[in-house]
Amino acid sequence: MEPLVATPHGLADVALENAVQRPVWHEADARDWPVTSAPSSGEVDVAIVGGGFSGLWTAYYFSLARPDWSIAVLESQRVGFGASGRNGGWCSGMFALSPSELAETFGRDAALHAYAASFATLNEIEAVLLREGIACGWHRGGSITSATIPLQRMRLQGDLAKQHAVGVNEADLRWLSADETRAEVNLADTYGAVYTPHCATVNPFQMVLGLARVLRQRGVQLWESSPVTAIEPGVVRHTADGKPAALRAGLVVQATEGYSPSFRQTRRAMVPLYSLMVATEPLSPEVLAQLNWSRRATFTDGGRMIIYAQLTADGRIAIGGRGAPYHFGSRIKPSFDIDDETHRRIVKAIARHFPAASGARITHRWGGPLGVPRDWTPSVVVDRTSNYARIGGYTGDGVACTNLLARTVVDEWLEHDSPLRNLAFIGHRSPEWEVEPLRFIGVNSLIHLSDSIDSHEARTGRSPKLRTTLIENLL
Ligand SMILES: Cc1cc2nc3c(=O)[nH]c(=O)nc-3n(C[C@H](O)[C@H](O)[C@H](O)COP(=O)(O)OP(=O)(O)OC[C@H]3O[C@@H](n4cnc5c(N)ncnc54)[C@H](O)[C@@H]3O)c2cc1C
Repeated sequence: MEPLVATPHGLADVALENAVQRPVWHEADARDWPVTSAPSSGEVDVAIVGGGFSGLWTAYYFSLARPDWSIAVLESQRVGFGASGRNGGWCSGMFALSPSELAETFGRDAALHAYAASFATLNEIEAVLLREGIACGWHRGGSITSATIPLQRMRLQGDLAKQHAVGVNEADLRWLSADETRAEVNLADTYGAVYTPHCATVNPFQMVLGLARVLRQRGVQLWESSPVTAIEPGVVRHTADGKPAALRAGLVVQATEGYSPSFRQTRRAMVPLYSLMVATEPLSPEVLAQLNWSRRATFTDGGRMIIYAQLTADGRIAIGGRGAPYHFGSRIKPSFDIDDETHRRIVKAIARHFPAASGARITHRWGGPLGVPRDWTPSVVVDRTSNYARIGGYTGDGVACTNLLARTVVDEWLEHDSPLRNLAFIGHRSPEWEVEPLRFIGVNSLIHLSDSIDSHEARTGRSPKLRTTLIENLL
């Protein structure tokens, strides 16, 4: 345990100073293949741009459906470099938008169909992991969204009633009393929680690497260190040995999520929002006993500024949160992965929610960009005139949804007789984000407002009217 040293920011500073700046998941790097880059010319049936879950799942399902096709994934770094290898490891059946919110856009039946498909996605992923022998700590413990103040209880219960009114079953989403919540995990403050069984935890990096290994065995080309510079109809332009190169393809699938603004056709389709995380050391048996995190359900609270935590297979708390600044022009840089203020806030959340673990050493801290479309709605774009497809727009809920949309884009392109082809996300076009500097002002205002509303509510027990109206108008 770190000595308690008084600093301007208290214990959090001491904790952060000694943390390694890389995802805790990367400790288990079982990558046993060398980097192979894309050739300077050639032709494939399917070229997939982006080696995260979206790209790899798309390659997987194409390779199952068309084992004779040549399939290549082009990744600018190494597979799993992006959000897929550094996320919170929640494999959740929930989208960023609730069933009732989806129903407002697509209607009740379409919203329920999307949710049923998403819940079933966990079974699909579990089956693939088993069949392909991918070990990634898969554990299905459900998820709780805990009310930490009475106001949050009111809001969460009101929202839950809306979901039930739209047709979601108690079995899929239900209320836990404060005692029932404490039986899930010994939280400092809880006034009850919403529980869903539709969430598993994983080590996401192990899952990416396992999937990559399977793809290699299936003959899919994984071309790493192969940055794509442009996507044109039937052509992927990239750099090979520092020189411009082109690959022809029967279909190009763009799977670049938070990195999409660097492509001409998706410049304003998404903003990269940074989510940051820390991990504690493996907790001692005494602390684990006090925490009593019985089913290892994932944890979030009912605040506006999202935080999310899981108890990892090796007994650490891996916890993350939004709140890091958005960078002008949707820029992405490795240095943006670290933000002291945001990391400090996340460390403090450990003490606030899990006091039993407040003395645990912080061993890792990291972050990364996730993609947020203007309406928080995922989409599957298929354009047969330019042999182009795209999936994404997960808004921080992509670990399961990448699998769902990958199966959907494959079924859609191959015109399979599949219920996934009725998903409302097919052909959905989110509005574009505003041009700069409006985007910069708008996104950062949303971040600041969320934080300040949470603080106000925690202090006074009431919502600040003006700020709440403002944020609702900005969304
Ligand atoms: C810190 C953090 C925590 C998160 N927690 C969760 C969670 O707990 N649960 C959840 O469901 N979701 C979570 N998310 C979101 C989730 O990780 C993503 O939605 C999901 O991984 C998206 O997968 P993807 O393959 O679409 O994108 P990515 O994994 O970002 O993959 C895109 C890939 O494209 C590559 N690329 C970019 N530009 C180019 C180019 N020009 N040429 C070639 N390749 C390129 C990138 O290097 C990257 O590897 C989190 C995200 C972050 C950052």
